[in-house]
Amino acid sequence: SLFELPDFDQHEQVVFVSDRDSGLRAIIAIHHTGRGPAMGGCRMWPYADSVTAATDALRLSRGMTYKNAMAGLPIGGGKAVIIGDSKTTKTPALFAALGKAIDQLGGRYITAEDVGTSPADMQSVHQRTRFVAGLEGEPGRGDPSPATALGVRVGIEAAVQHQLGVDRLQGLTVAIQGLGHVGFDLARQLHEAGARLIVADIDPSRTQRAAEAFGARISSVDDIVAAEAEVFAPCALGAVINPSSLPRLRCQVVAGAANNQLATDDLGEQLREAGILYAPDYVINAGGIIKVCAEYYREPADSVEGRVLAIKQTLAEVFATADREGISTRLAADRMAEARFS
Ligand code: NAD
Repeated sequence: SLFELPDFDQHEQVVFVSDRDSGLRAIIAIHHTGRGPAMGGCRMWPYADSVTAATDALRLSRGMTYKNAMAGLPIGGGKAVIIGDSKTTKTPALFAALGKAIDQLGGRYITAEDVGTSPADMQSVHQRTRFVAGLEGEPGRGDPSPATALGVRVGIEAAVQHQLGVDRLQGLTVAIQGLGHVGFDLARQLHEAGARLIVADIDPSRTQRAAEAFGARISSVDDIVAAEAEVFAPCALGAVINPSSLPRLRCQVVAGAANNQLATDDLGEQLREAGILYAPDYVINAGGIIKVCAEYYREPADSVEGRVLAIKQTLAEVFATADREGISTRLAADRMAEARFS
């Protein structure tokens, strides 16, 4: 039953929304508001049933609490999911109905775009509530990916400093999986810092562009996890570290933007045992939410960079805590985050 789903009892509030006129069926999960209103994107996905949708909403909202706390943001964690196919069943009325439901929460939850939703959809949400971030066309509103890429770059610096004792990226090799919004910008930054690149993407035009612009070596999509490189940077899919990929890794550091890189939590410990330093995903990829949060609260744009750069120091603390306590970096990050929000 729904009440027995993982993490259900750790949530402050879970709201089921149904609107007959627009056909909206959505779930808003508010995990924790101790640090401030819960902020997290709205995902639209053709979930097979409401239990699958609720499971996803609960997992994602809990993750936002940890991410936001570790980034030192004055917000808690929440998430909304809409059950539906974003390619065929999207309407402005659907998002306006979601906006009405969010407004009824009185500011306890602030939404933004996520997988399957866009700034234009957020504009429809905005018709009924002001508790929405990432609107189209407002000054300073824009793609959070460059901020995410910056955070990943300094996170890689922290990781190689800890693992290899080097304080520059010059001459190191980084294997990047996925050259999308974050991955391509990360490739540019690493190239400018003097790193060598090995890249893979299911879209060959992207790897070709990186080869031409940055002299990157192209790997097959299958073999990128096994690339001979100091750093493996997952910037495409989740669950990329799993029981079949882990023995193939030849890197010393895993540090990239992708969400939910570990297929299961215990893989954090297995990476540690294999002598590979893992930069916990929700710590290293927080640049985007730092930017979105600053924009929502109308903070000066130039305050964002310093906070994104601070990801380097936060990761250094995670690595030091893990060493000191003899635990995985994943567990160290979770404990540090929990101390910041509970
Ligand atoms: P994106 O969709 O722009 O890019 C993903 C890229 O990965 C695409 O180029 C795609 O072709 C490629 N790809 C897909 N499957 C692949 C495979 N099997 N092997 C190699 N390449 C593959 O996404 P993005 O915005 O760059 O985000 C990348 C990752 O970072 C995602 O996991 C996302 O959740 C996470 N993330 C992004 C942000 C952000 O600010 N955009 C913030 C936090 C986390």
